[in-house]
Amino acid sequence: MIYLDNASTTPVWESAIKAAEEVYRTSFFNPSSTYRDAIPVKMMIRTARTIVAKRLGCPPEELYFTSGATECNNWAITCGAKNGKGNIVISGGEHACVYECAKNLKTNKGYDVRISGILPDGTVDADDLIGLIDENTRLVSVIHASNETGAVNDIAALSKRIKAKNPNVIFHSDGVQAYLKISNDVRELGVDLYSVSGHKVGAPKGVGAMYVSSKTRLQPFVFGGGQEYGMRSGTENVAGIVAFGVATEEYLSRFDRDKILSLRKRFIDEVSKTDGVTVLGNGAETNATILALSIAGTRAEIIQSMCSDENVLIGRGSACASRHSGNRVLEAMGLKKKDIDGAIRISFSPLTTEEEVVTAAKVIARNSIKLRGNNVG
Ligand code: PLP
Repeated sequence: MIYLDNASTTPVWESAIKAAEEVYRTSFFNPSSTYRDAIPVKMMIRTARTIVAKRLGCPPEELYFTSGATECNNWAITCGAKNGKGNIVISGGEHACVYECAKNLKTNKGYDVRISGILPDGTVDADDLIGLIDENTRLVSVIHASNETGAVNDIAALSKRIKAKNPNVIFHSDGVQAYLKISNDVRELGVDLYSVSGHKVGAPKGVGAMYVSSKTRLQPFVFGGGQEYGMRSGTENVAGIVAFGVATEEYLSRFDRDKILSLRKRFIDEVSKTDGVTVLGNGAETNATILALSIAGTRAEIIQSMCSDENVLIGRGSACASRHSGNRVLEAMGLKKKDIDGAIRISFSPLTTEEEVVTAAKVIARNSIKLRGNNVG
């Protein structure tokens, strides 16, 4: 099987499975228990927190483990917005878990939610976004690397402009598709909140983390026993957290940006031997691992299914969005319906080989030609 849908999820590293297994088998104690046997479990969480925090360039005390980035993003939007009356501003390129959360605040709670445009290259329209911010803006959220196209937003530059316009704004960035692929130093990025997820980098599903700057007054989203420094209650997913730490190190040790960029180029060259291939979001800086393409005269869901019949697994838009028709982000980039209909997403991992990308490109090209021959499009 050739797996090129790593933006959706990744296979779990053997080292991460082993680390989780050890927790299940021997270190199953509740980390909040006060007897001696539970101490190593607390320490294991501490180690994982240190690893992820180091990558984000923050002290471990500013990092909170959660059930995943959906929870982080809901926490950021809901509790950031709650911080007084006013409005919130998000980019039009946000993942569904930011967009739908903001939409819910607007529809069901009467919040003033403002959504900026995005440019044809997939990055946020910075002037539009800054124009939406005023003295009543409580929170701004801009995705770091797009889950649709891999386009990277210049978060550091945006932060300067946002804070210059309103220094009280809480600035959140969804770093899920940027994590370990480009710099994630939260101080350099100038963010107050930053979300990451384990299962995009070889950890199991169901674990994520959010950086919350010590200067940011953010209420907890989940109340209870006071775990995670009182900010995120609930008995910790110890196995997931430990595996997240191990997976972070494993991914980092294997990730070679230049190698992935060259695989990406090799793939584009090969698939472009067929007509009508357009790289979406071309021109923007990329997170390297995500490549969105549109193939004229085809339909993504049919290409995806034909490829999966040949054991080549590819994506189309985000896995969550693909349950719905259309694609909000690609539409906001100004793409025509026919281009969106033919949009597929290829996403690489440190394990992807040249042979795999060449084979996959040939399978996609062949099926596209076949589909066009059958006049489906
Ligand atoms: N944000 C982005 C950009 C994503 O790609 C995803 C996953 O698809 C999420 C958030 C949600 O992360 P999780 O699956 O950990 O809830």
